[in-house]
Amino acid sequence: TIGLLAIDKFGDIAGACTTSGLSYKMKGRVGDSAIIGSGLFLDNEIGGAVATGMGEEIMKTVGSFLIVELMRQGKTPQEACDEAVKRVIERNPNYKNFQVAYIALDKQGNTGGACIHKGFTYEKYENEENTRVQPSHILN
Ligand code: ASP
Repeated sequence: TIGLLAIDKFGDIAGACTTSGLSYKMKGRVGDSAIIGSGLFLDNEIGGAVATGMGEEIMKTVGSFLIVELMRQGKTPQEACDEAVKRVIERNPNYKNFQVAYIALDKQGNTGGACIHKGFTYEKYENEENTRVQPSHILN
């Protein structure tokens, strides 16, 4: 999955995601990326979030919507991503066997990211510079 979040000079937020889905998926499977709120969610008043990883787990927690709602309640993008990953691992004891990762952006341009397994990174473009970011993770 490729997920993108952007904010312009007026503070307007945009986002997108695209995916080939999971490897060896069943014919007809619809993953999280195609479902607004799961793989992607934006509210131009608050911010946006996108997901990658095991779509079924992302959908069960409506992860991207959850992150935007947590930011609405005052959490930073980082805190909101951490909480969304925590929700996934709390509800599935098998979490060591799959990846879930989120990134988020708020209305002020703050960003955050979190994942279950170390290894997921994202690129942050700001002030004409790209930085590779290692998000917080639960497992090494
Ligand atoms: N989230 C995608 C899906 O479950 C897979 C991925 O991110 O690679 O369809």
